[in-house]
Amino acid sequence: MLDKMTAAPAEKSAPVRIEKLSAVKGMNDILPVDSARWEWLEDKVRVLMGRYAYQNIRTPILEHTQLFVRGIGEVTDIVEKEMYSFEDRSDKNGEHDHLTMRPENTASVVRAVTEHNLLYNGGKRLYYMGPMFRRERPQRGRYRQFHQIGAEALGFAGPEADAELILLAAALWKELGLSDWRLELNSLGQPEERAQHRAQLILHLEKHYELLDEEARRRLHSNPLRILDTKNPAMKPVVDSAPRLIDFLGPRSLAHFEGLKAILNANGIAWTLNHRLVRGLDYYNLTVFEFVTDRLGAQGTICAGGRYDDLIAQMGGKPAPAVGWALGVERVLELIKEEGAFQASPVPDAYAVIPDASDLPLVMKTLQALRGAGVSVLMHASASLDGMGSMKSQLKRADSSGARFALIFGATELSEGKVAVKSLRCDKTGSASPEQQLHRLDDAVAWASLLLINPPA
Ligand code: ATP
Ligand code: MG
Repeated sequence: MLDKMTAAPAEKSAPVRIEKLSAVKGMNDILPVDSARWEWLEDKVRVLMGRYAYQNIRTPILEHTQLFVRGIGEVTDIVEKEMYSFEDRSDKNGEHDHLTMRPENTASVVRAVTEHNLLYNGGKRLYYMGPMFRRERPQRGRYRQFHQIGAEALGFAGPEADAELILLAAALWKELGLSDWRLELNSLGQPEERAQHRAQLILHLEKHYELLDEEARRRLHSNPLRILDTKNPAMKPVVDSAPRLIDFLGPRSLAHFEGLKAILNANGIAWTLNHRLVRGLDYYNLTVFEFVTDRLGAQGTICAGGRYDDLIAQMGGKPAPAVGWALGVERVLELIKEEGAFQASPVPDAYAVIPDASDLPLVMKTLQALRGAGVSVLMHASASLDGMGSMKSQLKRADSSGARFALIFGATELSEGKVAVKSLRCDKTGSASPEQQLHRLDDAVAWASLLLINPPA
């Protein structure tokens, strides 16, 4: 297999051409310059989820294909054409599993909650973060491995759960310094109400059959609601004039929607009603919503969610209502680059200059003590076995590392049981700190706080 892919097949003696190694299309490395922003976002999310008392859940990347086919719905973009699925190797009996790399996480969460009977004593509020996989055409804001952060409230029927989730997302935007977003809401009602709407919708679409694009024609009878979600501008007149779901809702569905809107209004969360908002997945009912920005071009939806009261029962669990959202981490990070509050990560407090390799055991013992006291230390290490490099070249590295101090473990200092601490930067007031101070190696904890950029309060 490998040979076929890498060797030139033509002549026997042809040299084997090794392709330059590169990542799979649509799947990105997240390198240190960006990963600091990722970690910052993840830290903010953890703190905020804690404040709303949402607990973390981590489900496997691989699930049985059937989970997504049943959970997401057969006539959806994801199941029709976007899943990474494969047959696992056979087990002893010659049987094999059909597995899929998760394209989204709600179905998995529902599976886990049902499998472990998590709702046995009431509702659960859960959140997750992690990679999802969809075989889409890669473009800005659309990748084949992308990441979602999601929150799910399971076992709660009232609009307060929907509202809490939306308030949580709005609080997250605030924490991240994002203000250029809008919230779009719709209600899909209950299945019976949707069935009535669906009949009228199909009639309307049939009347304008000549204006429908190929995809809409294909979906006309299998999933007509999804046609409202079209991104094809040519279809705008047809979908704009289509019957509106909201007009088919009964009093209970309307009351649920009103309940949600009242809580959002009381909390100063602006929203707009979008009659065409139906969401791409089959399992939603009542509330659906999206947070959208105009700053990211075509891929402007940063977070999307809704209620899925029938999904748990549909997946074989004890019936329980639920609501949730998922945000696209890459898109949110793009927006943070544009207008967010992210500050570059702090540089190390100190750089350890070690001219003589034979001193490493003693030096590294001191560095361990400093790190134990909270100091971030970047230790000089050599690229060769021929020595540590000159003092001059090490100091140059110390300077370019951005560290505030150099810890110089020179022969003279070490012979006195000391290390020289040299300031490499001016302090915040602009006045230079004393050039160089000597400190004892055996009581590093006592002077460690002098090195801290942000000393603990
Ligand atoms: P879209 O209409 O953009 O395809 P979707 O309806 O398929 O979105 P969801 O399944 O609701 O998206 O996923 C929630 C969020 O995850 C989206 O709003 C988006 O921010 C993000 N997302 C979805 N697919 C991708 C992808 N391929 N690459 C990056 N982010 C994505
Ligand atoms: Mg999609």
